Amino acid sequence: MTDHRTRRAPVPHVLFVFLDGVGLGPATVANPFATVPLPAFERLAGGQRWTAEAAPIRQPRHVFVPIDATLGLEGLPQSGTGQAALFTGENAAAVHGRHFGPYPPTTVRPLVAEQSVFARLAGAGLPTGRLAFANAYPDRFFRFVEGRGRWTVTTLAANAAGVRLRRADDLRAGRALAADLTAEGWRAFAPDLPARTEAEAAGHLAALAEGHAFTLFEYFLTDKAGHSRDAARAAAVLARLDAFLEALLDALPDGALLLLSSDHGNLEDLSTKSHTRHPVPLVAWGEGADAFAEAGSLLDVTPRIVDLLAQTL
Ligand SMILES: [Zn+2]
Repeated sequence: MTDHRTRRAPVPHVLFVFLDGVGLGPATVANPFATVPLPAFERLAGGQRWTAEAAPIRQPRHVFVPIDATLGLEGLPQSGTGQAALFTGENAAAVHGRHFGPYPPTTVRPLVAEQSVFARLAGAGLPTGRLAFANAYPDRFFRFVEGRGRWTVTTLAANAAGVRLRRADDLRAGRALAADLTAEGWRAFAPDLPARTEAEAAGHLAALAEGHAFTLFEYFLTDKAGHSRDAARAAAVLARLDAFLEALLDALPDGALLLLSSDHGNLEDLSTKSHTRHPVPLVAWGEGADAFAEAGSLLDVTPRIVDLLAQTL
């Protein structure tokens, strides 16, 4: 399958919104994607709910397909190896011999450091200043990492490739996003930080995307809500995320390609507190979306991003 390499109009901006722990499961009462009104999510699935029953969409400027997250291994997919696979295009679970998380195992760290989407884009000739990791991290995160060596997949990937990790000052200036979008979590220990609405956070992310060739934002409260098995918490997280996505779709810069995907299922089945083996959604929205039409697993995302952006050089 080589059609994603076909020369096409250059895509100036790719914005990847990564949602932790979101699979496509059956539309049961335990699936908040089937029970909570989510207009922006549904817009991203061509008017369908994000469930296993949704029909795939493969249009030139809009793709919505289920992709495999089990990577050919038994057991429940985990964030360490799943994210490593998603963000490198290499089967990190096979490298490690099993699914592992939430942090990348030591066997997989060299892969994440050397072959991440950031490293591969830099290797293809994109200056690291054109690559952005939008999340802001507090000082205590860096103390934790230095103390225990517990890099997450995305922070390890960005740091190893020379893509700077954003901090409180960036968040204050609107050059970064809080992991929870509104910076509510930050204000517990940094009360001077301004509160943001979901729509304001979306505007900041759209501006970052416009200023960079590749921008990544990671959202993990979806996975936390899935582990909680708390339907009200799940509904609240999804409603906030939906408001964010609605504003983001309106604010996307011209020519941008928006990607959304996940590392493993979880939130779509509140009858269990563990992850699931469900496929995860891959949404491509905008210029060049059809490059992702035939993606079949977590391994098929990063190579296509690199191909698309390498054509702009
Ligand atoms: Zn989890």
